[in-house]
This record gives sequence, C-alpha cells and structure tokens, in this order.
Amino acid sequence: MKLLKISDWAVSRKNNTIAIFHDEDLLLKPGKPHILMMGGVHGDEPEGVHLAEQTLKWLEQNRSPLKWSVSLVTCLNPDGFKASQRVNGNGVDLNRNYPSKNWSAEFDQPRYYPGPSPGSEPEIQAVVAWVKKTKPRLIIHFHSWKPCVVLSGPPGEPYAKALCESSGYPLQNSVGYPTPGGLSQWGWFDNNTPIICTEENDQGGLEKTWERFGPGLIKILTALD
Ligand SMILES: [Zn+2]
Repeated sequence: MKLLKISDWAVSRKNNTIAIFHDEDLLLKPGKPHILMMGGVHGDEPEGVHLAEQTLKWLEQNRSPLKWSVSLVTCLNPDGFKASQRVNGNGVDLNRNYPSKNWSAEFDQPRYYPGPSPGSEPEIQAVVAWVKKTKPRLIIHFHSWKPCVVLSGPPGEPYAKALCESSGYPLQNSVGYPTPGGLSQWGWFDNNTPIICTEENDQGGLEKTWERFGPGLIKILTALD
C-alpha cells in the first residue's frame, strides 16, 4: 500500500527530525478506525525500532485490504536511539512526560526523569497534537524489557490477545510499577483510547521480534477492527 511520509513531523531536543508514515486516506477520507503505532520511545530498546521498521516494510509491500487507517512512527526518540540511552536529548523519559492527570515531578532514578513540566518535550507534544487531530481508536507502542503485552483499556483486549497469541507472551494489565505521565495514563485513563505496550525480551529478542509480533499485528490490521 502507498504510505505518505511527513519527514519533519517533529524535531527532537537535539534537532533530529522525526518522521511519521500514514496511509493516503487518513487525513483526506477518514472513515476507517485509525491505529497509531510507535517504536523507539526509549532509545535503548532497539527491539521496538526494529519491530516498527519491519511493520513499515510489511505495510509498504502489502496488497491486502486493511481494516484500519494506519500511522506509524518508527523511532520517536532519535536522540536517545543514537546515544543508546533511554531518555531524550534533554534527559527526559518520554513515557513519563505525557500531560496526564497523574503527571508527577517526582522520580527516584535519573532514567525516569519526567521533565520540567507535563508535555514539555517536543516528541510528546507531537504525539499529543497528532492524537488530537487524528483520533486513533487504538495505540500500540513497542518496547523491550521482560517479555509481555500490557493492555490499558478493555476495548483493546482482542488486539492485545492477538499479540499474546502470536508472541506467546503473557497479557498484563499493568507493567507492575507506577508510570505517572505514561502513555497508558494519558491515552486510556484520561482520554479513553486503549493503549497496548509490547515488551520484547531485551535479552536477545531483536532478531525474533518480527516473527513474534508480526503475525499478531497482521491479524489486527487485516482481520480485526
Ligand atoms: Zn520502554
């Protein structure tokens, strides 16, 4: 399918451009539900960038009709990705920086620094503006840690289950520790958009991540809406 690329969708703290890809109809002929997918939120999780790049490749080659309009960011945090660090160029954990009701200035480790204020970072401002403009029905972001699929929002259950089935990873309703200012909080608890977080195995999961999550993503895109 033909995807359009907005090359300068956002500019990071360190002046790296962040691109988004989307199908032709998303902005011109909205009608189908919209799914937003993002990799590279945390710069030291290459599995998520790899999965997003493989998803992009599949979309570009795909000829089957999709149930969804799609948009995809392959790497939300190019500053961190270039430096192999979790945080962005301002030292901020982007998944603590969403302007959610529970955003908190407190943090116990530098890797969780939430930024000077809610939504202070250009990467998160871009996501927030895009979500407000395009109103996705579902958002999936790709991470790596301990293998699991984390669902926030019961309407996302069929999709999360498809990803659990293909990966063999367990379904969880929480990552197991509080994430104030996280996408789950802002997306689901504040704005009613179900959020799925895939966690690939960060110990040697890179080569297998498409094999594990690809079939689940394809099932969501082609068979579920
Ligand atoms: Zn992560």
